[in-house]
Formats: sequence, C-alpha cells, structure tokens
Amino acid sequence: MNDRSTIFALSSGRPPAAVAVVRLCGPRASAALESLIGRVPEPRRASLARVRDPASGEVIDEGLALWFPGPRSETGEDMAELQLHGGHAIIAALVDALVKLDGLRPAEPGEFTRRAFENGRLDLTEVEGLADLIAAETPTQRRLAFRQLKGLIGNRAEAWRQTVIEALALVEARIDFSDEADVPEELLAPALSMARRLRDDIGSALAHGGRGERLRDGLIVAIAGPPNAGKSTLLNRLARREAAIVSPYPGTTRDVIEVHLDLDGYPVTVLDTAGIRDSSDPVEREGVRRARERADAADLVLWVTDLSASGTAITENGKSLFKSEVWEVRNKTDLKAPTEHMGRGASRDTVKVNVEFTISALTGFGLDGLISNLAAFAREYFAGAESAVMTRARHREALEQAVAALDRALAEGACGREEIIAEELRSAATMLGRLTGRVDVEDILDAIFRDFCIGK
Ligand code: GDP
Repeated sequence: MNDRSTIFALSSGRPPAAVAVVRLCGPRASAALESLIGRVPEPRRASLARVRDPASGEVIDEGLALWFPGPRSETGEDMAELQLHGGHAIIAALVDALVKLDGLRPAEPGEFTRRAFENGRLDLTEVEGLADLIAAETPTQRRLAFRQLKGLIGNRAEAWRQTVIEALALVEARIDFSDEADVPEELLAPALSMARRLRDDIGSALAHGGRGERLRDGLIVAIAGPPNAGKSTLLNRLARREAAIVSPYPGTTRDVIEVHLDLDGYPVTVLDTAGIRDSSDPVEREGVRRARERADAADLVLWVTDLSASGTAITENGKSLFKSEVWEVRNKTDLKAPTEHMGRGASRDTVKVNVEFTISALTGFGLDGLISNLAAFAREYFAGAESAVMTRARHREALEQAVAALDRALAEGACGREEIIAEELRSAATMLGRLTGRVDVEDILDAIFRDFCIGK
C-alpha cells in the first residue's frame, strides 16, 4: 500500500464559490499537511489553519484543516481535507503547491471512491448508490439512492449468496464423503429446498424490481400526435409550470426533446416525439428510428390532437405506434366553444383510451388537471419502488443469471448428479458475488467509476 500514490482533488463544485474543499488521500497525506500548514491536526477535528506555499513560504489562504487517519476513513487510507475560500486563484495556487510535493498527483474521476471500494469500505452496489445520490434530481430518487448507499441491495445480495454457499456446502459434503457410511444420504434434499426458496425470493425481487430501475431513470411519458397539434407547446408549458430541470437530450435534439419533471417528488421524463415522421434523409431517418424506439418504451403516451382541426381522432397510426397506456389530450380548446366539440369522440375502437383531457396549451386551460393526473400516475407507478432491490440493468442481469443457475440445479432434482448441482450452485454464488463486487469484476469496474466526477 505504501508505494501507492497520494491523490488530491477539488471535491467541491466549480469556483468561484464561498468554500472550496480539497481532499487528499494516500500515504503522503500527512506529510502534505506538514508541508502546507506546518502540522497534522488532531484526528477528525476541524482546526483553523494558515496554508502556505511550501516553496516560497507565501500564505495562500486561511481555512479549516481536517485529518482522517486510515483505516477509519472514508477511503480506508490516510485522508486530509482543506476547506478554503473558493476562489480561482486560491485553488490554482494550492494545486500548484500540491503537484510539487513528492508522491502527489491529481486524482482521476471517481478515484477516491474506487479506493474505498478496493479497501472494502464500500461494496459495488454502494458505490453505485453514491453515484446515484449525487445525480438524484427528486426526493424519491434521493431516498432510493441513499438506501442503496447504506447497503440495501448489497446486504440482500450477500445474504442470498451466503444461502447458496450453505446449500453448496451440503452438496459438496455429499460428494466428498459419499463413500462413508455415517454421512446421511439425504443431504441433497435440504440443499435443493434451500435453493428453491432462494430462487423464489430472488424471482419475486426481480418481478417487483423494475420500478427501481425506472425510479432511477424517471417514468417515461411520450407526447405524440399529428403535426401542429401543439405537442411542443405542451412540453414547453409543462417544463415552465414545474420549473423543470430542462435538459434537451445531448446531441439528439433533432429526434427527441426531453424534459425532466419532479411531480410530487417522482421523476418524470417527458419526451416530445414531434420528430417522428417519414424522411428520406438518412441522418434524419436514424433520428426518427431512435425517437420511435424511445416513445415505444414509454410508460404513458399523451396523444395530443387539435380540436379545431378535422380528422384529429386517435388514428390507426397512433395505435400502431404505441404499446403503452394512452391518454387523449384534446388541445386548442380556446379556439372553439366547449359545447361544439363535447360530442365529438375519438374513434375509440382503434385504441384504448382510459383518460381524456381537454386543454389549451396556449392559455394553460386544463393543465392543472393533466399535471395532477400525471402526478397520481407516477405515485401509483412508483408505489414501493423506493425499497426496490435493483436499480440498474447490471443488477437485473446478475439476478437473472443467478435464478437461471438455480433453476438448472433444481432441474437435476433430488436424485440428480451431485457434481452438476454443485457446479450450478457455484455459478449462482458467483453471479450474486458480482453484484456486490466480491468476485471477478474488473471488467465492470471501469464502466462504473468512469461516471464519477473528479474529487469523489
Ligand atoms: P406540434 O407540431 O404538435 O409540436 O405543434 P406546436 O406545439 O408546434 O404548435 C403548432 C401551432 O399551434 C403553433 O402555432 C402553436 O402556437 C399553436 N398552438 C399550440 N397549442 C395551442 C392552443 O392550445 N391554442 C391555440 N390557439 N394554438 C395553439
């Protein structure tokens, strides 16, 4: 561990800011403190410190210094933290002084967290929980991520893995001592019944877990309908109304515009699929294909029609486009007296419409009703999702593979080949171990840590 480099980074946000937090981690963290502030403070107590450039002796700034000796630190290694004023020149001078110190270098993105993982302070699901907590945009996402950071998923997976290992031990005892008279014949049956219970337990977590993945990404609501019905106007309205975190999907503005709404604390991503139309331009066609793909995966479609135009009922086309629930939103009510269009129904036989709204995206009429119904839809959709055991496709894949291995073990049955049962149980244990990062996960580590910011 001692040949490890000592890393440092600005862990707080972009300067200028009131305060900047610079963290150090590694074997030379205490030496760095000595050089910068002339001492190592008492562990885990903030103390006032004057930070000097070790080369010139010039004071850079005055702030707080903290010392967290390993292994009882966040990363498990020696750590130091300096809280200074968050000005560009202060940070530049400090970084300048730090790089000149022996054995110190700037941290890579996520490197502090990676060390915490390598030193066993966090398992892989907790690492992901930390990333999600930082990225959380709504209270429910925050709660889900916090529970994951605190081991919600990891502990569950680890308990499952322990059960598999117990079952495996029984089978292996049967294999190793099968010639000895005093080893009970019926070791396989209890092992298989453990495997069966486990299979059901993981299976039900899988069945209910999809909501956790969605809670992380947001419920997908697609706005669709004929050209000029007012889809973009509606999207803009929703965005403004909810003071949304408006973020056009990077690089894909020509196919799908999306806004993230926080409806009653639930994340809802609204897509404007206005770009869905036929085109001969190959670039645009690719955009259309992607738009359609995203809209197809929507949990809810708002089918917007123009009340003032003819032929705006939900069409065969609308039906063929979407598999999900569809709400009809009849727009531009301001252009017509309500009585005129009340009787005009959509051709219901072509598509299932559960809910219908009459609005004006222009004046805002009827939007409150639409928004509160969307919030209720999200609330119902996400009921119980905060305690989901999966939040990522990676979790789902590992659990599915564990279930498949358990199924293969169970298929062998009580008079089956012990070696095969053992092999499948071992494979189930490996899959569960991959969830928490206990076994061979080099290949997924880089992908996970790459998404972190520097200084975390
Ligand atoms: P899109 O093609 O479905 O995205 O439709 P747009 O949102 O671009 O709207 C098409 C036109 O209809 C624009 O000129 C809008 O200003 C207008 N529009 C949209 N909603 C309403 C509405 O509720 N009332 C009226 N009078 N005009 C609207």
